[in-house]
Amino acid sequence: MDFDWDTEQQGFRSTVRAFLAAHLPADWEELAHGPGSEAQSAFSKKFCAELAKAGLLVPHWPQRWGGRDADPWTAFILAEEMWAAGEPRGGQYMNVNWIGPTLMRFGSEEQQQRYIPAMAHGETIWCQGFSEPEAGSDLASLRTRAEKHGDSYRINGQKIWTSYAGHADTCFLLARTSPGRNGISIFLLPMTTPGITVRQIPSVIGEGDIHEVFFDEVEAPASAMLGGEGQGWEVVRTALSLERVGIPRFALAARMLSRSVARLQGDGRFGHGAIEQAARARAACEAARLYSYNIVDQRCHGIPTGPEASAARFATVMAERLVGEFVVEHMPDALAGGDPLLLAHHQRAIVAGIASGAAEIQLNLIATDLLRLPREPR
Ligand SMILES: Cc1cc2nc3c(=O)[nH]c(=O)nc-3n(C[C@H](O)[C@H](O)[C@H](O)COP(=O)(O)OP(=O)(O)OC[C@H]3O[C@@H](n4cnc5c(N)ncnc54)[C@H](O)[C@@H]3O)c2cc1C
Repeated sequence: MDFDWDTEQQGFRSTVRAFLAAHLPADWEELAHGPGSEAQSAFSKKFCAELAKAGLLVPHWPQRWGGRDADPWTAFILAEEMWAAGEPRGGQYMNVNWIGPTLMRFGSEEQQQRYIPAMAHGETIWCQGFSEPEAGSDLASLRTRAEKHGDSYRINGQKIWTSYAGHADTCFLLARTSPGRNGISIFLLPMTTPGITVRQIPSVIGEGDIHEVFFDEVEAPASAMLGGEGQGWEVVRTALSLERVGIPRFALAARMLSRSVARLQGDGRFGHGAIEQAARARAACEAARLYSYNIVDQRCHGIPTGPEASAARFATVMAERLVGEFVVEHMPDALAGGDPLLLAHHQRAIVAGIASGAAEIQLNLIATDLLRLPREPR
């Protein structure tokens, strides 16, 4: 693996930074708090449309879908810069990272034509309807039912913790069409479909972040199913492997650590204990970065993402937590309203080990699939 950026990659990073500098409003860091809020959602839609016009929303997508076939490094540099800035794309990062690519792979021609161009133009928000009150880590136990009636399915059940549901146009919904893991199917469901109710849940991250979504006798045409009946698990495994290392959360952690250290140095408060703790947090950010780069390199070489993705994700959770702990210990004033982006990072670090799959599940996968540790006999 070569860790040097080439001239083109450096140029691309500079272009993204220049775009951010030109398009983020002066109060952006305050807006960054509350990724699903009314104000940030409205801003993100405008921002993503501009990003698309500049060729910076989906450069890694095929030309057919509005991209330029750029390699996975380009997508990752873009994601690093966006996340380090507080993710101004809002919920649209999901379209770019995994929903669009999943539809390209498994969608019918009609589904692709209906949904992908709007994503490429930055015009649409999706939500991910996976978790349920009794199905989080054990996603395969989900109970939302989709029963076939003639040419359509009738959906009943409930999702929970659904990010961006209050502003989403479409839901990428997992529902059960028969028992067992092979009985899970995916529906691409407009959120305006009668029978869908969205209720916001108060969240540490801010207003509009997470929701409950109820499905009461919701009619979905058979054409809304992605892939075949019962193919949901296979599709979701592909999607989650894209999602797991698609968010370079360490980039914001590293930026916030540098900012905190600079402030402490300026105040003459960067003493021995703080130096040691900062060094540990910095090392964790670097570890997360290198684990993630390893996955990107594998993608560039066409190697399917394996259990290393769990290591990358766990390292990223650790980086966020260590930076969060550093800030709590050495500059609690910054969290009491002194620095909105630092506060936003801190709040995201609190949920980092739960959102996108619990950290402990990643540890299980690392133990069994990466380290091949023996299971304790029952
Ligand atoms: C900010 C945020 C945004 C989210 N957005 C979405 C979204 O948009 N769409 C969506 O579908 N979901 C979303 N989620 C839900 C998230 O995917 C789940 O919370 C997560 O998968 C964990 O599931 P759970 O909450 O049911 O916890 P549980 O699975 O009940 O886990 C509870 C605790 O038990 C531990 N645990 C469970 N099983 C094991 C095991 N086998 N081994 C060791 N420990 C275990 C877990 O680590 C955890 O600490 C979001 C969550 C958060 C916090």
